[in-house]
Amino acid sequence: MSNVLITGGASGIGRAMARAFADQDDQVWVTDVDAAALETCPAQWRTSQIDVSNEAQMQALFAKIAAIWGSLDTLCANAGIAGPTAKIEDVALSDWNTCLAVTLGGVFLSAKYAAPLMKQAGRGAIIVTSSTAGQYGYPNRAPYAAAKWGVIGLMKTLAMELGPFGIRANAICPGAVEGLRMEGVLEREGAAKGMTRDQVYAGYASGTSMGAFVTEQDIANMAVFLAGAGAKMVSGQVIAVDGHTENPDPKI
Ligand code: NAD
Repeated sequence: MSNVLITGGASGIGRAMARAFADQDDQVWVTDVDAAALETCPAQWRTSQIDVSNEAQMQALFAKIAAIWGSLDTLCANAGIAGPTAKIEDVALSDWNTCLAVTLGGVFLSAKYAAPLMKQAGRGAIIVTSSTAGQYGYPNRAPYAAAKWGVIGLMKTLAMELGPFGIRANAICPGAVEGLRMEGVLEREGAAKGMTRDQVYAGYASGTSMGAFVTEQDIANMAVFLAGAGAKMVSGQVIAVDGHTENPDPKI
């Protein structure tokens, strides 16, 4: 049984990760900024309302994890926000700063406070949720794409810095994921382009070799693999779970 922390774990991909780890009898600690969503988590999961971009809250969280669990085997630094959809000249500095603070800064703070716990144990797996936007870029989503590229640079650095202590770091890049978040994107893009939701969906799906969106479970399966013994020599890798995108103009 492992101890697993998932940030942004009360909904979407993070919640699917928490479910997948819990299903194999791992102990799960889910944090999220959304108190109402945390309320809906199963009673067996530990939950904490934490803003990943708030250092005092993150420090207190890890002190609590150290006191209660004494160790942390797996960190899923997953919380992220979409940021604005706007041309670069229309992106407000405040929106840029907020997106970077949560989507990249939250991964930094998670790793900063997880590292000492993992070093103490001489083992650990850090799994960061990037995006195919962190592999290709994403027109009209400059803050998000910059943050997701940053997440990959940070992960590579963690893999090098922490590898000697038995700690691995890897990034998962989800493609378009079936779910509420993408339904919102499909609706907004459809409205902006005068297209139906299904037309926009087909546009996204056709950008992949497999012609389909992925599911939250697909991402969770990869997280479980990366955390497990089967991946004991896998570190510093960027792994897309996206139905294969070789598209220079991806939509995610
Ligand atoms: P989601 O919105 O369903 O879940 C994200 C969770 O993070 C939410 O529960 C939200 O409350 C929480 N959160 C937001 N800001 C936070 C903060 N400051 N502190 C703590 N928690 C916070 O989205 P999702 O699709 O599950 O996204 C999860 C991750 O996957 C994100 O990093 C996202 O960028 C990435 N991603 C998603 C997709 C997709 O198609 N859904 C594609 C590529 C990458």
